[in-house]
Amino acid sequence: MKDILMTAQTTLENLDLRAAELTGGTLKVTSPIDGSLLAEVHETPLTEMDAVFDRAQKAFKAWRVIPAPRRGELIRLLCEELRAAKDDLGALVSWEAGKITSEGLGEVQEMIDICDFAVGLSRQLYGLTIASERPGHRMMETWHPAGPVGVISAFNFPVAVWSWNAALALVCGDPVIWKPSEKTPLTAMACQKVFERALARFGDAPDGLLQTLIGGSDIGEALVASEAVPVISATGSTRMGRAVAPIVAQRFGKCILELGGNNAMIVGASADLEMAVRAIVFSAVGTAGQRCTTLRRLIVHTSIKDELVTRLKKAYAGLPIGNPLAEGTLVGPLVDEAAGAAMTTALQAAEAEGGVVFGGTRVTEGVPEGVYMQPAIVEMPGQTGTVKAETFAPILYVMGYDDFDQAIQIQNDVPQGLSSCVFTLNMREAEQFLAAAGSDCGIANVNIGPSGAEIGGAFGGEKETGGGRESGSDAWKSYMRRQTNTVNYSDALPLAQGVKFDI
Ligand code: NAD
Repeated sequence: MKDILMTAQTTLENLDLRAAELTGGTLKVTSPIDGSLLAEVHETPLTEMDAVFDRAQKAFKAWRVIPAPRRGELIRLLCEELRAAKDDLGALVSWEAGKITSEGLGEVQEMIDICDFAVGLSRQLYGLTIASERPGHRMMETWHPAGPVGVISAFNFPVAVWSWNAALALVCGDPVIWKPSEKTPLTAMACQKVFERALARFGDAPDGLLQTLIGGSDIGEALVASEAVPVISATGSTRMGRAVAPIVAQRFGKCILELGGNNAMIVGASADLEMAVRAIVFSAVGTAGQRCTTLRRLIVHTSIKDELVTRLKKAYAGLPIGNPLAEGTLVGPLVDEAAGAAMTTALQAAEAEGGVVFGGTRVTEGVPEGVYMQPAIVEMPGQTGTVKAETFAPILYVMGYDDFDQAIQIQNDVPQGLSSCVFTLNMREAEQFLAAAGSDCGIANVNIGPSGAEIGGAFGGEKETGGGRESGSDAWKSYMRRQTNTVNYSDALPLAQGVKFDI
């Protein structure tokens, strides 16, 4: 795998990451592609955290008074720098997270898209004017910057999730402290460099607008515990969210939680099966099943179940699995050995619960030395305990249903609530799925898979997914504090609710 490694080094150099930053450190970074060592990076010492918080607070005091459209100019420049770095950053995402080339590039495109969105947003941080019950009074709502935002991110979207948070936080007037996954520090270090290029062109920004912390969960814990960081946006497993949320709540900070998903598709009897198959395969095996929105449960009308499963098995049998950088590959590696072992364990458990497994074995021929798994289809007798848990791997559990209410009941009967969809040409089913008694997820789609969201909509989910919303729509409000203002321009002092208090 010498050639691959040489190209990885070139990519790192193109992104301005120098030997001194990539060697001699305590955190080993290996590529899921072939397990080779990419770098040994230096971890942020816990003893530096106070200085980090201090810099962020100082940056906040200066940045919050810069007019928002001017703050937007920084994000416009960041967007330009990201466009220029797209190919290298996309390739580094592939090296570090194991994504196929087009998904690595797609992730950077998502960063560009959210920057464009945030630039426009910087002129639209609207409040409300509210009718006052008192004569000669005006009431309104104003949005102010909230303070430094701590961003904790997962390995599987190593850069896009940062940009969703950072682009919004920065136009909202908040500095960002970023704790990327310990599995993907290089892409984060590269983003810090890209950001610094934008800063240099911007000119008069305060120091410390973006600080990237390298290390494991202990660094994340220090970030979460700090009162200097009023907003914590944490993306990762439900286990991590359960640890983070009470600590932030105890100090009355705000949490934006983006946690695990267990996403389903209902396929109705009238569905366009050709489209459904394409959507299923992309959402179940894309990113080797390592998206929070990956399709994990297929709930199919019994009249078409056999036909759909036969078509899926045919598609799965021909999937190009291998080096994600090679042309034509659709399924790359899992992130590490532990992920492969978790997949095998889940398949064994599903079998013990009556599941019939197709695929799911390790691929060793014609692939580099990473953890390459054949995506699995598992026909289940019902929604067992194993199906209700998120296994971060390409496993698709298939279950049958007879009536649509039952399908919705199965779809909602899991602890997670991120993404969901229905394939149907029956308008009643589609509308029922989107109505109050339909899908209980943060994302519910019709005739489109559960993964691959656009940045324009608010992204996030309910229940164990954590309830946070990021990205488009009015997600920006989570990065600001709301203030209600009443202005009295009369010469009297009437009290609300007719209260009399004359002195
Ligand atoms: P993970 O929970 O192992 O790690 C995520 C991040 O949390 C890492 O940076 C880690 O260092 C940090 N962390 C762990 N424990 C912590 C603690 N106690 N305090 C502070 N920080 C801590 O997740 P992962 O394996 O990197 O990612 C996969 C998971 O992320 C899946 O469950 C997936 O569904 C989820 N995810 C969710 C979304 C979403 O938007 N809902 C997006 C991407 C990934």
